[in-house]
Formats: sequence, C-alpha cells, structure tokens
Amino acid sequence: MMLARTASALRRLLPDGEKSTLVATMGGLHDGHLALVRRARAFGDKVVVSVYVNPLQFGVNEDFADYPRRLREDCEKLQGLADIVYAPTDDEMYPQQQTVGISLPPLADELCGKSRPGFFHGVAVVVCKLLNQVRPTRAIFGRKDYQQAVLMRLMTKQLSLPTEIVLHPIVRAADGLALSSRNEYLSATQRRQAAALPTALKRAATNIANGGDDFAAVCSAGAESLTAAGMDCDYFEVRDADDLSPPSGGKVVILAAATLGRVRLIDNIETTPFN
Ligand code: AMP
Repeated sequence: MMLARTASALRRLLPDGEKSTLVATMGGLHDGHLALVRRARAFGDKVVVSVYVNPLQFGVNEDFADYPRRLREDCEKLQGLADIVYAPTDDEMYPQQQTVGISLPPLADELCGKSRPGFFHGVAVVVCKLLNQVRPTRAIFGRKDYQQAVLMRLMTKQLSLPTEIVLHPIVRAADGLALSSRNEYLSATQRRQAAALPTALKRAATNIANGGDDFAAVCSAGAESLTAAGMDCDYFEVRDADDLSPPSGGKVVILAAATLGRVRLIDNIETTPFN
C-alpha cells in the first residue's frame, strides 16, 4: 500500500488509463468505512482511499478542530485492503481561496442542509476535486449519508463526470446505531441513548410497510420518541427513496437527524409503503 500526499504523487502511482475505485473519507476509519473499501476491492481495480478532513464542509461552530485525525492508524487499518491512500495536504486541496463553486439544487438546503448551511456545497467541491485528481472508474458512497449520496450522484450525472457512483448499505453496531467517526464523542450513557434513533426509524418503517399512510403522524411519533430518549430532534421525514422529493407512491426513505450532547446523529431506513 502506497501513501500519496499530492495529486502529482498520486498520478505517478496511478497512471492514466489504469482503472480504479475511490472511497472518499475524512479518516477516523471504522468498520463502516472498511466495508466500503472491501466493496471497492471486489471490483478488482486499484483501490484508492482518500483521507481528508475538508474544511469547506464545516460550519463555524462545528467540530473541524476536534475531528479525529490519525492517519497512521487509518493506514494500518487499510493495510491489505487499499492499494493507495491519498491523504492530500490543505495546500494541495486549497492552494488559494476557493472562489469557484458548484451550484446545487434546492435539495442541498433541505434536511441536513437546513441546519448546516453550505455543508453540501463544501462536500460537492471536495468530491469534485477528488474525482478530478483520482479520476476513478467508480466511487463508493455509504447510504448512511443518504442525502449526500443522492446529491453526489446528481452532480456527477449533470456535470458529465465519468465516474460511476455506487451506493453501499449502512453498517451498524449490534444495537443498531450506524457506525460514525463522531460516535466516539458520545459518553457511555449517551452511547446507550443513541440506539433510540435506529429504533425509532425501524418502528416508522414497519408502520409504513404495514399500511400506515399518515406519514406526518408517523414522523411526529418518531420525533417524539427521540425527544423522549433525550435527543434534540432536527428532522424526521419521509421522502421518495430515489431523489428525496416528497413521497409519491413508490419506495420511500425515512431520514432523521438528532443532536445528543455535542453529537449530531443522522440515520435513515428505506421501506416500501403497503398498498
Ligand atoms: P466520512 O468519513 O464520514 O466522510 O464517510 C466516508 C464515506 O463512508 C461516506 O460515503 C459515508 O457515507 C460512508 N460511511 C460512513 N459511515 C458509514 C456506515 N456506518 N455505513 C456505511 N457507510 C458509511
């Protein structure tokens, strides 16, 4: 496994024309990330894992300074799984103030975008840069960040970027909590409370699959159960699973975000309404 810190070093390791699969991460790697890397491996092409904490996607009061940064440990976890770790420096990614951006549809200002203004714009810019630097045949994104995956799929399609976006299922802990680098900020008590989020989503999904068609009622019951578990619910919504538009009869995804202590948890579950 080789480590590249600049795009030119990366290009030397990955000559033009060599097929590759990219897993873009911010590091602090856990089994969820590693599942994406294994999925990448199964395609048989070179596996590139990027590790970069992207300043552009953090709001002023968010955890940019505290975000886990442990490249050495991340590289150890990737031994035998990745061919190249691309961990660019800030100078490499943002050699000058980023004045060119990517315009995203209104979806970027809904759900997570509502309480994190500019977040998806920051994600879009860094993903676009990484795709241009790595030039992968395909990139794997986790369904845990469902809205991000939908927006990135739309961006690559509408900007004709020649990378296929592949989505991978959510990897969960035994109690159902979706693995996340930020879970390590939770105290032991909060960690136990956090399982209420996947539980609430599962209950909502079962309700809808069994014929519950009052989505507003399902969502307010879900939000209430998060509040009862000590969380501050940001949103609990049912959307079309394909493009996150309002549900219109097909497969849906139920998405929720809630704050517990200083941690913002997000999760989602897909289901098909009974009809
Ligand atoms: P991050 O390092 O949090 O930016 O995540 C990098 C990639 O890993 C994104 O595509 C995430 O959606 C994905 N990911 C993170 N956690 C999980 C998880 N528990 N299950 C599946 N994918 C995940």
